[in-house]
Amino acid sequence: MHSHSLQPSISLVASATAKTAATAPSQVFDTKAIQKLDSAHYLHPFTDFKDLNEKGARVMIKGDGIYLWDSEGKQILDGMSGLWCVNVGYGRTSIAEAVYQQMNVLPFYNSFFNTTNVPAVQLAAKLVEISPPQFNHVFFTGSGSEGNDTNLRMVRRYWDLLGYQDRHVIISRHNAYHGSTVAGASLGGMSGMHAQGGLPIPGIEHIGQPNYFEAGRGKTEAEFGIEAASWLEQKILEVGPEKVAAFIGEPVQGAGGVIIPPATYWPEIQRICDKYGILLIADEVICGFGRLGTWFGSELMGIKPDLMTFAKGVTSGYIPLGGVMVGDRVADVLIEKGGDFNHGFTYSGHPVACAAALENIRILQEEKLVEKVGNKTGPYLKQQFATLASHPLVGFADSCGFVAGLNLVKEKAEVVHDCVLFDAEQHVGMICRGYMFGNGMIMRAVGDRMIIAPPLCMSIEQIDEMIGLIRLCLDQTLADLQERGWV
Ligand SMILES: *Cc1c(COP(=O)(O)O)cnc(C)c1O
Repeated sequence: MHSHSLQPSISLVASATAKTAATAPSQVFDTKAIQKLDSAHYLHPFTDFKDLNEKGARVMIKGDGIYLWDSEGKQILDGMSGLWCVNVGYGRTSIAEAVYQQMNVLPFYNSFFNTTNVPAVQLAAKLVEISPPQFNHVFFTGSGSEGNDTNLRMVRRYWDLLGYQDRHVIISRHNAYHGSTVAGASLGGMSGMHAQGGLPIPGIEHIGQPNYFEAGRGKTEAEFGIEAASWLEQKILEVGPEKVAAFIGEPVQGAGGVIIPPATYWPEIQRICDKYGILLIADEVICGFGRLGTWFGSELMGIKPDLMTFAKGVTSGYIPLGGVMVGDRVADVLIEKGGDFNHGFTYSGHPVACAAALENIRILQEEKLVEKVGNKTGPYLKQQFATLASHPLVGFADSCGFVAGLNLVKEKAEVVHDCVLFDAEQHVGMICRGYMFGNGMIMRAVGDRMIIAPPLCMSIEQIDEMIGLIRLCLDQTLADLQERGWV
């Protein structure tokens, strides 16, 4: 018996059926039985448990390329790369093979107590090779959240070692997402997360996000970018420059709704950080590994961060792995003056995860997927996505590499800030998302902003297919809203 088939251990298989397409799954699952067990025992992340139990979860059973299949046999175009992570697409057997080989040789050993393992060493060297020149060291974690916990401890340790114990405040932004651990959620700026469990922890401050659609009224994008960056300087002066350790930001905010900053924003942030000697942390968990058409989003934004968080795309989500690229400015102090850094995880440098990452990066390089998104498919997506702006429901649409978003509005206007918005309680984004799912398209709703982050292997033809699906769903949403009398 070989383990490649989707053979569940309990009887959730209804029957075997003939294949409907070369890549479609060959088994039909008993969806109701799975949903029942799911409701009975599985508490899902970021989920209203009771609500889900009533509706029943969608059961994904297979992925291939940019497509998924659910237990009902429905084929779905995954416009979100899973959760912003499946950069090389589904069904890469060479990653499975690399993992299998490594598991057979050495499934685990830790990196504590002066030991190491070959895949972790190879991956550290590889990451240094593909990242900007100031990075020569890496600290491995199991996830992006743990990476940001590491950042928090590392920047405070850095300033301690230099004799600046007061420099402990980290400035972040509203609506940022930096993970779900206590430090990650505190660094993040999600009000719904802060409302639970007494967050944020002390020593973390938040400023506004560079959201032109929401906050740029009366200004050009370039002017607004400078203004949004100036909020950092205001906050530094309010806290006291001698107390500020670092600024953290995603090059393009992901979970906050694909907030693409004006081109003037990041260089001004860099200037302000330099002026006050503050460390700059780029959370590259989404933007890293080609998402914006460059290996790291920092390169596109023209900044030189001291630390970069990574996770997600480093293994294309095939197996969990995260970490922090540590720039020379920080690494030199930690190494020369540091002594023990009392921080680390059982799975820091996990050999199997590192083997998966090495093969994933090999695929990205061999197929030139980063360059492709930068020069060919990214620009094509930009052009095609922009055509959606003429739809009667779309007030604003923008994209950057392989992330894109559009704002659903009640009434369009020449100047985006004059658009009339829907009431939040109408949940128009969720209505639109329902039509997307119904038509086999995954597009996420953040309020009334609809967002995508497709796999980097997506072809020109598949972009056309995706844009066609989005347009169809926008039409159906419009018809629905007209029927309700909401537009
Ligand atoms: C997903 C995400 C994280 C958290 O990563 P996990 O692996 O879920 O812990 C952190 N930062 C950003 C920007 C993310 O998108």
